[in-house]
Amino acid sequence: MTAETRPSIELILAAPRGFCAGVDRAIQIVERALEQYGAPVYVRHEIVHNRFVVDSLAAKGAIFVDELDEVPAGAHVVFSAHGVPKSVPADAQARRLSYLDATCPLVSKVHREAERHHREGRHIVLIGHAGHPEVIGTMGQLPAGAVTLIETVGDVDRLTVPAGQPLAYITQTTLSVDDTAGIIAALKRRFPQIEGPKKEDICYATTNRQAAVKAIAAAGCDAVLVIGAPNSSNSLRLVEVAQRAGCSRALLVQRAADIDWSALGGAGRVGITAGASAPEILVEEVIAAFRQRYAVTVREVATATESVQFKLPAALDASAA
Ligand code: SF4
Repeated sequence: MTAETRPSIELILAAPRGFCAGVDRAIQIVERALEQYGAPVYVRHEIVHNRFVVDSLAAKGAIFVDELDEVPAGAHVVFSAHGVPKSVPADAQARRLSYLDATCPLVSKVHREAERHHREGRHIVLIGHAGHPEVIGTMGQLPAGAVTLIETVGDVDRLTVPAGQPLAYITQTTLSVDDTAGIIAALKRRFPQIEGPKKEDICYATTNRQAAVKAIAAAGCDAVLVIGAPNSSNSLRLVEVAQRAGCSRALLVQRAADIDWSALGGAGRVGITAGASAPEILVEEVIAAFRQRYAVTVREVATATESVQFKLPAALDASAA
């Protein structure tokens, strides 16, 4: 197709999008560990939910495993950004593995909240998605039975809690802001004395990316592409938020090769965002793919600026910089 015959399209980029401070830190931890200790460095689970990131680190010498028993004695192992149950560092110590914890500090904050409520005698209701590694890690901070998981407003009606015990709620960090507000309201209606965080547990990155995709979806986009992984909670939420904001053609793609161009037929304006574990290079790849088919103009709609950075673990900080 020549430049003259290509149809025009406007791409609207959401900002903020893509990597958050917790993902950036987790990737740096693996990279610095590889520099400091040499390959291989083992990583328990995907360090973040993105195949491109995982493959890039594997090419540098990271070996991804499901469980610690796959890590040889004396090796270095990194725990993922989603957090781990307390049993995991305990197992690592018992097996004399040298470990680095890449749990996002905002997930660790929720762990500390859960511990405080438990210490103060409250039963904890966790709002989150069953089976997600963050939920498994958060529930694993406390003994079995101390935390009850709920996922929907309907679960609030069905919830049974220990009689006579005060209650507190905490949430997964990557939930839908709007859905979670509804579940918290239902909890407060049913249990008016329930305690909760002063400011919700949904993290700044999730909140900002949802607000940004809402803004572009409402700005007359015919379709929205969310770049992210199918197992990335915050990416899936971005698709839902865009759909609810009025853009029914909101599609998740892992990278440019996944784009179903026929699904974009007739679109004159397409919004683009990326989940918190998707690197900007994948956004650039998607824009380049549009340029091969369309005469493209690009506009960014920014709803917030971010400057959050998290420190690396002391073992890696200055020495490997
Ligand atoms: Fe941390 Fe939020 Fe990023 Fe998860 S999405 S790693 S909680 S900043």
